[in-house]
Amino acid sequence: MEIIIARNTGLCYGVKRALQIARSTRRRKTGRVLTLGEIIHNPKVILDLQKIGIQAVESADAVAGETVIIRSHGVAPEVYRALKERGVEIVDATCPIVKEIQKLVAGLAKRGEEIIIVGHREHPEIKGLIGCSRRRAQIIENEDRARRLPVRDKRAVLAQSTQDLNLFGRVVAALLEKTKELSVFNTICRSTQTRQKATSELASRVDIMFIVGGKNSSNTSRLFQAAKRVLANTHFIESADQIKPRLLKGAKRIGISGGASTPAESIEEAAARIRACGEDLSERENINQWQS
Ligand code: SF4
Repeated sequence: MEIIIARNTGLCYGVKRALQIARSTRRRKTGRVLTLGEIIHNPKVILDLQKIGIQAVESADAVAGETVIIRSHGVAPEVYRALKERGVEIVDATCPIVKEIQKLVAGLAKRGEEIIIVGHREHPEIKGLIGCSRRRAQIIENEDRARRLPVRDKRAVLAQSTQDLNLFGRVVAALLEKTKELSVFNTICRSTQTRQKATSELASRVDIMFIVGGKNSSNTSRLFQAAKRVLANTHFIESADQIKPRLLKGAKRIGISGGASTPAESIEEAAARIRACGEDLSERENINQWQS
């Protein structure tokens, strides 16, 4: 049994940076340190942060006078204003790549462009981008929605930083039929693109694939969809203990990948669990042979 871990797994640059900022803020500050929303979609890391006194709150209304860390997804300008009005010290850990996308949206909106953003409307990054758009952005989740738009002379289209590259391409193709002059900005970050490519490529040469990450992580879900398109025998797991020996029966090559908020340790735990299941299976096979 061979276990292959996809290239480019482990935390992405933006999440790693946000965690470093959170921990160093904790060391510097004596009062309460909060994050606006969970800084990472990983229950174990969230628990570790709670142990050192970093708590997540869901809304700016829930804070007053403390230190609040903005996570890598970024927030809308009105959230900064609300926090300032509450006398909060803001530590901005927005991923610099997301900041650039926010600037792009603000610039397009200022020029009066109609903006299409390909993403998930409930995702925090998208909420931040909508806030930068002066109400000129529309969120589109798939190509079917794009096909139902009216014909326009001009539009701009961009994507959530963790969007599926394949889906973005399909939406762009649909928009080209509805727009005379379409400006396309591929804002899917490089880390996401290389992770998606490496995962799909690995899925094409293994017998079974495990995608490790939080079920509420949209980039992990997209990674799962990308692998599933290539290999039906792909499983989305949140932790190593979900890997059962029966899943591995007959599999010679096993692939593992994880989302931008899946720490390297979770990938290692999955690999260790597969090795343990493999030993269990071969032991059982030996017993069966001996009995027959
Ligand atoms: S996925 Fe990309 S854009 Fe999003 S936080 Fe990570 S590095 Fe930044």
